[in-house]
Amino acid sequence: MFVPALIERKRDGGALTAAEWRELLTAYQAGAVPDYQISALLMACFLKGLTREETAGLLDGMMASGSRLDFSRLGRKVVDKHSTGGVGDKVSLILAPLVAACGVAVPMMSGRGLGHTGGTLDKLESIPGFRTDLSLEATRAQVERIGCAMIGQTPEIAPVDKKLYALRDVTATVECVPLIAASIMSKKLAEGLNGLVLDVKQGSGAFITDAERSLTLARTMIELGEDRGCPTVALLTAMDRPLGRACGNALEAEEAIMGLRGEGPRDLHEVTVAEGVEMLVLAGEKDRAAARKRLEEALGNGKAAETFQKIIEAQGGNPAVVDDPSLLPQASEVEVYYARKSGTVLRVEPRAIGRAVVEMGGGRRKVEDAVDPTVGFVITARPGQPVHASEPIASIFARDAEGIELGKKALDGAIAIGDGEVTALPLLQARVTTRGVERISEK
Ligand code: URA
Repeated sequence: MFVPALIERKRDGGALTAAEWRELLTAYQAGAVPDYQISALLMACFLKGLTREETAGLLDGMMASGSRLDFSRLGRKVVDKHSTGGVGDKVSLILAPLVAACGVAVPMMSGRGLGHTGGTLDKLESIPGFRTDLSLEATRAQVERIGCAMIGQTPEIAPVDKKLYALRDVTATVECVPLIAASIMSKKLAEGLNGLVLDVKQGSGAFITDAERSLTLARTMIELGEDRGCPTVALLTAMDRPLGRACGNALEAEEAIMGLRGEGPRDLHEVTVAEGVEMLVLAGEKDRAAARKRLEEALGNGKAAETFQKIIEAQGGNPAVVDDPSLLPQASEVEVYYARKSGTVLRVEPRAIGRAVVEMGGGRRKVEDAVDPTVGFVITARPGQPVHASEPIASIFARDAEGIELGKKALDGAIAIGDGEVTALPLLQARVTTRGVERISEK
């Protein structure tokens, strides 16, 4: 295989065959193709895009580089969800145990914080002792035993994706729809799923802010899943403000625990249940209203919270946090933030909030950075809410006085109060399947 010819073809707007993609990735994994050639190819992909056949070839090459979980003898349906990432998005922490409590197996593989967006693994690891680095074998055994495991990408899963992602991260080639779609799906499909729900975030705090491109991302991932026998559904949900109130790892873990008891904020509950309904339907539930009832029951009767306790215990964490969230790590400094003036909350800008959490130590600027689980915000102000000057609308959690100042400045910039128009996106916008886009009307 003569790699410069492949780069040249891609650079000039041509396409590689699926077989060429697979062969190239095999050679790359074996160390026979250097990073600089793959970097050049990735940039050509970024600039010229990928055809459907190429995206499929790339995905298959990534999956072939590693192992795949096999739950064919489990006797239960296996379903997962993936969110394209946002600020305050702790849905996975509630959804995985909730759906498992309803009898569906959930081998949830998640990621760490990326840019301004938080990561499920970092949130889980704020629970004292919780380990996300389970082997594939341990994951399989835990899913068999308690119906759910919540882990990170293991070295056995799509290792070429990991290498490619590290290169994309340092060559400005991350934000490319087919590359993102193949990367996400290579990990999800390796879980051996019977169904997948995608939460594709929309709005200024989303990873991809352009509505048209994020719909293309949803459609591309659906096609990749369905073509490989994994029924895939996407929900387009709002990320033009943080989801729920808490932003920051331990604060979000605490809010997720409230959500598991049915005591969380309404928007968080609605998104969680909407995704849960899709997961139960993919697992065979025929009636959407019955699916919702099963989920509400598992939240109300303590089964979902109990399942989370079992997961925490199995993964080395302290399950007592579910009954007593004050056992989660606590920030040294806490300060209440007051509305700067009277008026209507026009915007709560998620990107500024997410960036501030990173700046305050709650996220990474370099891969090797340690994350402080305690820092962040609890923001009670919602777009459309009337507020009075000096009314408390948020709390800032920081390591020191400097962090509090940083937090205040961020909230000053992120929360707009005035008399203008409120332009919040509907929380649940659309359901996307192979049949098309179905708008969701809010109650
Ligand atoms: N998450 C992934 O796993 N891959 C991407 O390319 C982007 C986000």
